[in-house]
This record gives sequence, C-alpha cells and structure tokens, in this order.
Amino acid sequence: MVDRHLWNPQQEALQGDALRTWQVECLRRQLGYLRERSDFYRERIDRAGVKPENIRGLEDIHPIPCFDKSQHREVQEASLREQGHPYGTHLCAPLDKVIGVQATSGTSGLPTFYTFTRHDYDVNDEVIARTLWRLGLRPGDTVMLGFALSMFVGGAPWLSGMQNMGLRVIPIGAEGGTGRLLQFARLTRPKALLCTPSFAEYLVERAPELMDAEVASLGIEILMCGGESGAGDPAVRGRLEAAYGADVYDAMGGAWGFFMVSCREHQGMHIVSPDLNLVEAIDPATGEAVEVKEGTVAEMAYTSLDWEAGPILRYNMGDVAEFLPGLCACGLPGTRYRILGRADDMLIVKGINVYPAAVRDVVAELAPRVTGAMRIVLDHEGPRVPPPLLLRIEHGEGLDDVECASLSTQLERRISDLLRFRSVVELVPPGSLDRSAHKTKLTLKRYAGEE
Ligand SMILES: [Zn+2]
Repeated sequence: MVDRHLWNPQQEALQGDALRTWQVECLRRQLGYLRERSDFYRERIDRAGVKPENIRGLEDIHPIPCFDKSQHREVQEASLREQGHPYGTHLCAPLDKVIGVQATSGTSGLPTFYTFTRHDYDVNDEVIARTLWRLGLRPGDTVMLGFALSMFVGGAPWLSGMQNMGLRVIPIGAEGGTGRLLQFARLTRPKALLCTPSFAEYLVERAPELMDAEVASLGIEILMCGGESGAGDPAVRGRLEAAYGADVYDAMGGAWGFFMVSCREHQGMHIVSPDLNLVEAIDPATGEAVEVKEGTVAEMAYTSLDWEAGPILRYNMGDVAEFLPGLCACGLPGTRYRILGRADDMLIVKGINVYPAAVRDVVAELAPRVTGAMRIVLDHEGPRVPPPLLLRIEHGEGLDDVECASLSTQLERRISDLLRFRSVVELVPPGSLDRSAHKTKLTLKRYAGEE
C-alpha cells in the first residue's frame, strides 16, 4: 500500500477558491450558531450590523471588533457572576454538553478556560492526527507525551487525539519527573517525544547523571516541541537535533481545533486546519484586517469555523507572525506562519517595524560562521529607538580577525537589505552570551542597567 502524505488529504489540501468557499459556508453557519446560543455574541454581532445569513465573503466579519485576552478574562468573570461557571459568556453549548475543561494559569487572577463538547473532542482528535501524520507517525507507533497532563491543553486532549489515531501513548506528563521519563523512554522506546523545548533541553542536561547515558541512546526519531516558543529558534533546534539525533519540529495551537506545525524546511509552521479555523492578519497599529500577501507581518486573529463549546470570533491573542501563503518546498499544504513574537516585543526604527525574532532568523542563516546566539542592545526604551541598532552577535568557532571583519560587514548589509534598518554589529566569542534562561532572550536593556 502506498503511504499517503496527509491524514485527511481532501480537507487539508483545500486551497484557493475551494478553501474560501468552504470557509465562507462554515462562517455563515458558525456565526448563526453563536448568535443563537450566546447573548454575548448576539450583541456583538448585531451591534456590528452583521447578519450571519448574509455572509458572502470572509471580509463580511470585519465590522465585528477583535476580541482579546483581557476581554476573555471579562467574559469569564461575567459568567462566574451571572451564570455560576467560569467558562465565559461566550460559551455556546449547554453546560451539560461540556465534557472537557482545560485551562492555562492566568498571569493574574482567573485561569483562562478552554471547553470541549463531544463534537469538539472529535475535531480535536482529527486535527491532532493531521499534525502527527505529517511528522511521519503512523498507527502502532509509540509516542511519549511529556506535556503537562494537569489541565494543560497539550495534556488530556493530546492523549485523546493520539489514542484515537491508533498511537500507543506513554502519558508520563511533565509532572512525571525527569528520572521517570528517562526510565520509561528506555523501556518503551518511543519513536517520538512531545514536550516543551525547555524540558527537552533539561533532559539533555540530566540524562548522563540519571541514566548514565546521553539522550541520543534513547533512539527517539521525532521530537515535537510546543507549549512555548523555542524550537522555532534555529540555535535551540540545532542543539536539540544534535543531542537527540532526531528531527525536531515546532508546533503551536491546542484550543478550538487549531494547530500548526513546522516541516522539514523549517520556514514557519503550516496550519493543518484551514477548514476548521480562519486566521486573519491584523495591523497592530490600527486593529484593522490587512490583506495577506507573501511576507505580510501582522498580528494573528483566530475564528473557529466548527466549534461548539466556547468558540472564538476574531480572537487576537497578540501573536505577531510573518504570513507565508505561498507553496512550501516540502510540498505540504497550508499557509505557513513564522511567529516573530508578541506585539509588545516590537521595536520601531525610523518607521520600520522590527521584531527581534526576525533579526535572530536573519543572523542564524549565516551559521556556522555564527552560533545563532545574539542580543539587540538597547540604550533607549522601546518601541521607538533611533538607528543604528547595536547587535551583539556570537561568531562561530575558529574565525580569525579578517574573517570576523568580513562577517560583520556582511551581517550589517544583510540586516539592511532584508529588514531595512541600520545596525552596528559587535562580534563576541562563541559561548559568551548567557544561555542559562529557559526562555531565549533577544534584547538587552542597557538603558535599564542590564549588561
Ligand atoms: Zn513545508
């Protein structure tokens, strides 16, 4: 039997007009459902003058304002007050149909809840199968689930999706502890490990002491990282690939059946669920939708197209991405998104929007003449900072003075050509920038006393 490339070729490969027609139809149905089932949504949709039955194009929802994280908190507080549950007034399914509850710990106060009906679990299972199939996993393979199992959206829903696909899951969870994870990995020989990139790095560090061998001895072939950014950083990915001897992928999503995952090209992450979620590009300055072209940099707003419990409508979570709708060299379908960080990370240099992650990616392309570690040294508080920007960049091993001088010039030219701002590069020896923090730091606030 010829192995197919996709779990659900018919739906995943929808594109162009066929995809738009499908999305418009789903949007019309979903909007009608929201309006009928939730007072919160009815008011929002009516106030914008939008009639679900009249939806003819994706732009017809533009009059409805975007929803954000602080509003998500507000609707949860309102439902707690008025309806006796914390799941939000945007909950559309009757409470007795809600069979799954996940949450992320809120930075302040109420956790953020995600709810699932039986139908939503089916959507979730479908999308997880699509994601893992693309990485090469097939029924019968053993997979170790190293995400937090307690409440985290990468826990129970992933367990369900993987079992439904026919994978043999070892649900050790992040709570299982490093020693137990290594012990079970040794015994069960998983083909893939799913965990956060910082946990994957921590395992590399602890393995020699805890099992008297390197992680490479576990024979893991696929490492799928999620839950935080990191595996999208070429330097982090390189370290993990070398340590595990595995292909390393970056994934994002979890709630509302939304997922995206990187491919062997590592040029952004492909959305695997374009038929189930709409992703709009929002201009951070105006809050308005902008047309998506190759290379558009904008905030992402998500809309569920087939979700029952607590669906979302134009939810802008503040993630900034480069939109890459063109074909990927890997041949897999789905617009790609290269996550550049959060809107609050953005710097403005003489009117040009600069995202630290974009600078890092341009620098990393010159490896191995650079290690990939770098900092933007700021002498002024952002977002508006005067040029040139000082970039402290680690050069690679074994470069002499002449090679360093030409590397600096080349880096400054590339930054100016590709990112359109002026920089001054200060090269530092490999290993001299701090790597102890789990979260990769890309700026150094010298104005605030950091050094
Ligand atoms: Zn690709």
